[in-house]
Amino acid sequence: FNTERFGQHILKNPLVAQAIVDKANLKPTDSVLEVGPGTGNLTVRILEKVKHVTAVEMDPRMAAELIKRVQGTPEQRKLDITIGDFVKAELPYFDVCISNTPYQISSPLVFRLLSHRPLPRVAILMFQREFALRLTAVPGTEFWSRLSANVQLYAKVDHIMKVAKNNFRPAPNVESSVVRITPISPPPPVRFEEFDGLTRILFTRRNKTCRANFGASGVDKMMRDTWLQWKREQKAVQGQSGMEVDRDEEDVDVKEAIEEILKETEFSDVRPAKMSVDDLLKLLSAFHAKGFHFA
Ligand code: SAM
Repeated sequence: FNTERFGQHILKNPLVAQAIVDKANLKPTDSVLEVGPGTGNLTVRILEKVKHVTAVEMDPRMAAELIKRVQGTPEQRKLDITIGDFVKAELPYFDVCISNTPYQISSPLVFRLLSHRPLPRVAILMFQREFALRLTAVPGTEFWSRLSANVQLYAKVDHIMKVAKNNFRPAPNVESSVVRITPISPPPPVRFEEFDGLTRILFTRRNKTCRANFGASGVDKMMRDTWLQWKREQKAVQGQSGMEVDRDEEDVDVKEAIEEILKETEFSDVRPAKMSVDDLLKLLSAFHAKGFHFA
């Protein structure tokens, strides 16, 4: 097996496998999405408890083993296997997602789940320890980062279990953790691209002040470009000549406007390392109120 390419570290400890499935609080009516079932150590335990499982597995040899494992059991008819890359696969309806996937797809996995509709009730996911710590971090602590803010905008995340290397075969190089992700429903009415655009600027140097991060090279030009673009779109909607923006508007002093917004919101001297999701949302809406956008 190409363990590196597919990140195939099979979970060998049955107690850990059972604990992961138990943490999902599955109901008999649930449909579950499992990403990267491998040989099915989690899958068979999930199947016992729910109505339906869709398992997305990239490696056909693993999928074949899983099929063999359930063949002839009463659970067989509850299982659909999609062979392919989760990142590109079409997803069915599901209430719960459970996954012990390779760590290369950690970010895409989380963001794909959070943008899926309808939102799943909960996801129980195994990650590299450090990624899990960033997902669950609170502002002002070591692991609080752009990832923490971007995910916690849409979900509550709890660290539920540490899993040591020796529970896997072959053992990976890094320690692991299981997290529970509970999407906030309904999600906040914020375009992810906007929030992400703001956190990209602020978390470039999370221990510098907001003023310093907005002062970084290229930021005012980018803000100016999106500002002009939004102005044009607004004019187009209002039926005015779509491409032309008035001269005086062209001359907007973006640097000064940014300074002003940071001052009014009292974030000028605050460091992103200490800003909560609420702080970030406040700042974002202050920018929007003045016609500034991040995407
Ligand atoms: N879930 C099993 C377990 O706990 O024992 C296997 C875990 S192993 C870490 C990850 C599994 O995900 C492997 O079977 C691998 O082939 C599969 N996989 C890797 N990349 C994938 C992707 N992009 N989409 C779907 N499955 C993937």
